[in-house]
Amino acid sequence: MPRKASRSIAVVDEHPVAVVPVSERRLSFGGKWAYAPAPESVPVKIAPRYELFVGGKMVAPKSGKYFPSLNPANEKQLAEVALGNAADVAAAVSAARKAFAKWSKLPGRERGKYLYRIARIVQEKARELAIVETMDGGKPIKESRDFDLPQVAAHFFYHAGWADKLDYAFPGRKAAPVGVCGQIIPWNFPLLMAAWKLAPALACGNTVVLKPAETTSVSAMHLAEILREAELPDGVVNIVTGAGETGRALVEHADVDKLAFTGSTDVGKLLAKSVAATKKRLTLELGGKAAHLIFEDAPIDQAVEGIINGIFFNQGHVCCAGSRLLVQEGVFAKVLRKLSDRIKTLRVGDPMDKNTDIGAINSKPQLEKIRELVQAGVAEGGELIQTRCALPAKGYWFPPSLITGVTASHRVAQEEIFGPVLSVMTFRTPEEAIERANNTPYGLSAGVWTDKGSKIFKMVSKLRAGVVWANTYNKFDPTSPFGGYKESGFGREGGVHGLLPYVRLES
Ligand code: NAP
Ligand code: MG
Repeated sequence: MPRKASRSIAVVDEHPVAVVPVSERRLSFGGKWAYAPAPESVPVKIAPRYELFVGGKMVAPKSGKYFPSLNPANEKQLAEVALGNAADVAAAVSAARKAFAKWSKLPGRERGKYLYRIARIVQEKARELAIVETMDGGKPIKESRDFDLPQVAAHFFYHAGWADKLDYAFPGRKAAPVGVCGQIIPWNFPLLMAAWKLAPALACGNTVVLKPAETTSVSAMHLAEILREAELPDGVVNIVTGAGETGRALVEHADVDKLAFTGSTDVGKLLAKSVAATKKRLTLELGGKAAHLIFEDAPIDQAVEGIINGIFFNQGHVCCAGSRLLVQEGVFAKVLRKLSDRIKTLRVGDPMDKNTDIGAINSKPQLEKIRELVQAGVAEGGELIQTRCALPAKGYWFPPSLITGVTASHRVAQEEIFGPVLSVMTFRTPEEAIERANNTPYGLSAGVWTDKGSKIFKMVSKLRAGVVWANTYNKFDPTSPFGGYKESGFGREGGVHGLLPYVRLES
């Protein structure tokens, strides 16, 4: 379906961010040309309806029901998607079980060939897939094009390389596949989370039933077409779209050997309870409330850029977002001034515009959750610093925001906002910074900005987080393991560690 022309642009100069309709783009802002819109123009076919992918075929859901998938930037229906129920999940598990008999016996180098093929087709179709991802999920096209899709391909390439080298990953042991894997993913990086889940599972010889998130299932169905094009044997990957109930049916299915879940801590806890009395294996990648620390000796301008990227990347819909800023007192005023200036230059608006920095909030419930938490932050005594953006009338939007005067007990310091909102706090000494940083139920990621290498080593060893970035933030690579402590979950994805959940090691 050819995409409509860009509807709105964000105009930025030293004035607050504003979004104006494209028809008025000849208007100058503050007396000068500020910015010209640059809509992505690659044609992409989005079908009116998507079925389930079971046993290598696109099949209608047994209930005959479909649900709408919206474009959160304009609230229009993008497509309708099959609502899978427990019977559909059972058919998918049975297809995966049947396929497991052959797939698990294939030599690793043969499995690797399929993964290389998938990676290459993803690369070929990356521009189109990026558009699907942006239209269905609301993220800026520059992020889906320059981050999500290259990472998707990289994960398939990386794991293709492992498929015939498992003996080297686990010297002296034989790595046997686990069996049928049920994988449940969230809406913030739909294709990338699918790649994080599928690539290691397939490399190790498992078969899969994947359940995408309700608001972002369309790109997964485009991936299903790619798996067919790569001639992946029928049933090795099955994709059952639907709602939370669909996921629950997959979790409760008796013939699933391993569950891998990325999503909220609340649902993660339900999964842990559900598998407690079974032989199912489980890995959980859950929420986060990362501390992002700036010491007085840090290169402040670089640190501010890192903080901006850490919280506003993907509208803050990032489990490892640097959502709690801890600034050493001596540089607090300077950092706050620079941050307040910098957020005014962020362009909020049409996700399909290549210049957009902050796209649409993924869904109405997510927007309501962000609004509710920000109101709570103000009610608890925080001061809200927000750009005065004119936001489009349709769609779900939230301007980049800072909340200062936050204390450790405030909800905005403890709960995951999962939006473009940064809670700002201070500290005096490294010891105080460590104590404050670790003072949440989560432990997924953290960031440190300092000029001193020794301080980095000290902080890294004391911060209770699965990933700690130093003088950078939000850097990902398939070779490095990602995962959390405490209520952020357990198990790792990426690197050799990410293979472990998908193998049984025999001597
Ligand atoms: P969510 O509500 O937990 O949903 C995640 C997935 O689980 C979706 O596919 C969802 O389906 C499904 N689901 C919902 N209820 C279920 C149930 N009872 N049984 C089985 N599956 C069920 O989380 P979300 O709102 O989509 O995602 C945001 C959360 O994910 C945040 O907390 C974020 O931190 C976390 N996250 C963590 C990571 C990480 O790597 N640690 C990465 C990304 C996101 P429906 O969509 O149909 O409801
Ligand atoms: Mg959508």
